[in-house]
Amino acid sequence: MATDTGELIRVSGLTRRYGTRTVLDGLDLEIAPGEFVALLGRSGSGKSTLLRALAGLDDDASGDGAITVPAQVSVIFQDARLLPWQRVLDNVVLGMDGAEEKGRRSLAEVGLAGRERAWPNELSGGEQQRVALARSLVREPRLLLADEPFGALDALTRIKMHGLLRRLVEQHRPAVLLVTHDVDEAIALADRVLVLENGKITAEQRPGET
Ligand code: ATP
Ligand code: MG
Repeated sequence: MATDTGELIRVSGLTRRYGTRTVLDGLDLEIAPGEFVALLGRSGSGKSTLLRALAGLDDDASGDGAITVPAQVSVIFQDARLLPWQRVLDNVVLGMDGAEEKGRRSLAEVGLAGRERAWPNELSGGEQQRVALARSLVREPRLLLADEPFGALDALTRIKMHGLLRRLVEQHRPAVLLVTHDVDEAIALADRVLVLENGKITAEQRPGET
């Protein structure tokens, strides 16, 4: 079970299985408050499984291990979709009480001021990704879990999104665990880059250090 015991994120001996298939196999991980960690690993290595475990959204998997996360966790899923029948601002607020003003501010932060009343299908892919980011930030998470949030974007938009994410992280200071297939992206953004392999963290690098 995930418990709230302050800001340090700690995973120890985490095992996750789907049926008899073991995906995470005694994984250990710590993330400091405000630290930006990028997670690399082959397709099928268990990155999304780890994020779902951290978010407490993995009822379809079995296993054990201890997970400590802050109370406020936001997730941007790999297949992040906006609700098509809800306007942009409603997609950000998603029923949070009295959060309209905050929602407007978050949209402005991601460069979408004035688009509050638009429908999702009136937005480009990159704009929709920014709405997903605003939706995560409006909850003021202490841990932001992002599963390839820029996967579908072209190179130029990706670079813009990197700048935006870095700025927002500097402002709000959540710990971040970003899953990406892009090594350059990982190195450009993160304080620490991890590789998930055979159910464990097998490599670690701190960009900027030699
Ligand atoms: P990708 O980079 O392709 O997104 P990933 O590292 O995120 O891959 P996961 O989605 O965590 O990988 O999946 C890890 C393994 O667990 C895969 O072999 C996948 O087929 C299996 N798996 C994931 N979810 C389920 C599920 N709900 N039921 C059964 N098997 C699953
Ligand atoms: Mg995945």
